[in-house]
Amino acid sequence: MASIDMKNIVKKYGDGFPAVNDVSMDIADGEFMILVGPSGCGKSTLLRMIVGLEDITSGDMVIGGKKVNDKAPRDRNLSMVFQNYALYPHLSVFENIAFPLRLQKAPEDEVKRKVNEAADVLELHEHLQRKPANLSGGQRQRVAMGRAIVRAADAFLFDEPLSNLDAKLRGQMRTEIARLQRRLGITTVYVTHDQTEAMTLGDRVCVLRKGVIQQVASPRELYEQPVNLFVAGFIGSPPMNFLPATLKGNTLDTPFGPIELDDRRAKAVGDRDLVLVGIRPEYFEDASLVEETKKHVGSTFTARVDVTEWLGDSQYAYIPYEAPADVTAQLKELSRELDSDQLRTQAIVSIDSTSRIREGRESKFWLDSRKIHVFDPATGDNLT
Ligand code: ATP
Repeated sequence: MASIDMKNIVKKYGDGFPAVNDVSMDIADGEFMILVGPSGCGKSTLLRMIVGLEDITSGDMVIGGKKVNDKAPRDRNLSMVFQNYALYPHLSVFENIAFPLRLQKAPEDEVKRKVNEAADVLELHEHLQRKPANLSGGQRQRVAMGRAIVRAADAFLFDEPLSNLDAKLRGQMRTEIARLQRRLGITTVYVTHDQTEAMTLGDRVCVLRKGVIQQVASPRELYEQPVNLFVAGFIGSPPMNFLPATLKGNTLDTPFGPIELDDRRAKAVGDRDLVLVGIRPEYFEDASLVEETKKHVGSTFTARVDVTEWLGDSQYAYIPYEAPADVTAQLKELSRELDSDQLRTQAIVSIDSTSRIREGRESKFWLDSRKIHVFDPATGDNLT
């Protein structure tokens, strides 16, 4: 097993904009690291540079303490699991798993022992004589991992391995990969554009945008303390609400009325008078369900609900709001960081499934103001 350390890694294709731009990150031995970001952010390029399928323009790639920039993929002892699993259709499961050992001309008894050990871990014994075409997607995935296990690879690298599967199987495979990775304790780097996969699988998640690292943190920290607007908007479903607001003293003037900031937050926001307030849907509650003793740490407001969506364990309510036109215009002018659809004219609120809030009616909501984020619209930085 091995740690993977990247130092100021840059990748340029031709003389264009760098696909990966000055990435530095240390992945610990045994750690499960996720690379996530929108299409084109450079996550596959970064993975391919780790495995050696892509040259590094500048910077150092260090695996297990040794610089590998100039090492061929076969000399890096890493195992890549692709989207299509790259299994040989004419070979049995046994021979697919045994393949790397056959290449090494390993003795027959060693091949049998290692394939059987891998089949134990992966619960593939009863399928060893089958061909890949007769396996489910999940079983094929395990065969691909079996091949990596018999090679005793120092790390597993996954490039969107689940994106061809249907939602149900994707969920099952996600759990399976997480379980196997924990059991095997092998350093793993996993690329996905799916924030749910990122949040549920990784010990840590690296959020990339346009080739630049935005934040590397545990799923919880990313969710609770996103460093900027991009991370805040990318992580979380339904996404965080961004509302225009002005600050006077400790009071934020928002489309849902005044929100009091504590001294620390107000100080952090400083003398900016126009900001973006970030509120996750679950920071709102149906005010009638909030204990009186708790109410003072938040603010209560009345709003009309446009649409509700009942999900069984919770429900979403969509609340239209109006921001003063000059504030919205100023924000759009100021903010290069904000997509126009992020400055919506409705907030999504996630409330308890027992709430009696109904469509088309005015209702009272409570907002936990201890949790809200305040962003600088010009830089996108989270100030709180
Ligand atoms: P996706 O999720 O769509 O696969 P990604 O985040 O994995 O995207 P990359 O495939 O790493 O992104 O691509 C990063 C950038 O580099 C993109 O702008 C892409 O167009 C560019 N790029 C990738 N491969 C090449 C190549 N072989 N030649 C030129 N440009 C490339």
